[in-house]
Amino acid sequence: MAIKSGTQADIAHRTLLSQATVSAAVRELATAGLISTAKDRGKVCLSPLHDVGVGVHLGFNHTTVVARRLDKEFDQVTSQVRSEGVSRGWQRALPDVKQMIEEAIEGTGQQRSHVLSLGIAVPRMINPQTAEFTLPILPPWREGDDPAGDLGSWLGVRALIDNDANLGALAEQTYSTREHAETVVYVKASTGIGAGIIVHNNVLRGHGGMAGEMGHLTVDPDGAVCQCGGRGCLETVIGADALIAQVRAARARNGAPPPETLEQVIVSANAHDAVCMRVIHDAGRRLGHSLAQLCNLLNPDLVVIGGQLAQSQLLLEGCNESLRRFALPGAVAASSKFVLGLSELGTQAEAQGALVLGLRGHEHSGGT
Ligand SMILES: [Zn+2]
Repeated sequence: MAIKSGTQADIAHRTLLSQATVSAAVRELATAGLISTAKDRGKVCLSPLHDVGVGVHLGFNHTTVVARRLDKEFDQVTSQVRSEGVSRGWQRALPDVKQMIEEAIEGTGQQRSHVLSLGIAVPRMINPQTAEFTLPILPPWREGDDPAGDLGSWLGVRALIDNDANLGALAEQTYSTREHAETVVYVKASTGIGAGIIVHNNVLRGHGGMAGEMGHLTVDPDGAVCQCGGRGCLETVIGADALIAQVRAARARNGAPPPETLEQVIVSANAHDAVCMRVIHDAGRRLGHSLAQLCNLLNPDLVVIGGQLAQSQLLLEGCNESLRRFALPGAVAASSKFVLGLSELGTQAEAQGALVLGLRGHEHSGGT
């Protein structure tokens, strides 16, 4: 995946800053010896830096860590991925997460003392006023869990934390090779369903961090009770538990072995298992119906589907069908720049967004 060419004009386009502002910043940074401008193509290049940025995504059933020396391109990260997450409890997961961070840092050729910033992506809401879990704290988190405090003090940096869908949106907007989008909706469809929303280049978190809790939109007022206490939330219909239960019910009748995980359902769908294909395609249609409401409200120019379910093209097909059926035509017309696509960053999006969050926080804290 190639990053845009990195000329001053590209930087101005991507940051929405004026050419004059970018030019002044480039001059200042070049004088400080932090960057240089390539003579042949005008590309702005970072001078060699030994500092390392780290991004961590603590999923329910998986963990991803990315680390990158800051003079490297964003896709030159070293990564660690494990199919165990925080469902087992934060204190039990913590030693493994530390080990993954150590290994990712080692992969950059640097040491822990070189870590400059740390960002953490988590499922569930984070209160933007306090940087703590929004109350009531929902599983897998428990009262007193403090991943940012635990990992930040261990690495000796101030760790920043945010909801994983928010950080997926941030990564897509920062690194997408698609045309720059000002209003972005990133849907993380995995164990749960969440959306990260960027409006005019700012992550929309809402007063208590609840913006984008798409999984708890009511789609069936008489449906099943959700763990949030609501009834008929989208998550009760297309969350991992619901999809696994549908496949199990069908297989109980046809005698095939039942799936244990969402990943098994996706792998079977991609291998043309008729039951799993139907379940994933219809999940896409239900998702598209809810997304259509969001598109009518926000009129985004980019909608990205990420998370585990995005590993199936069938989901996108079903989603696209419903979006065209239920959204205002003008809100999803190609002529209005609207794009619906799978995440270009794959399952690394949230961890990459966490790395960006950490770096931005470091900038704003004045480099302490
Ligand atoms: Zn709910």
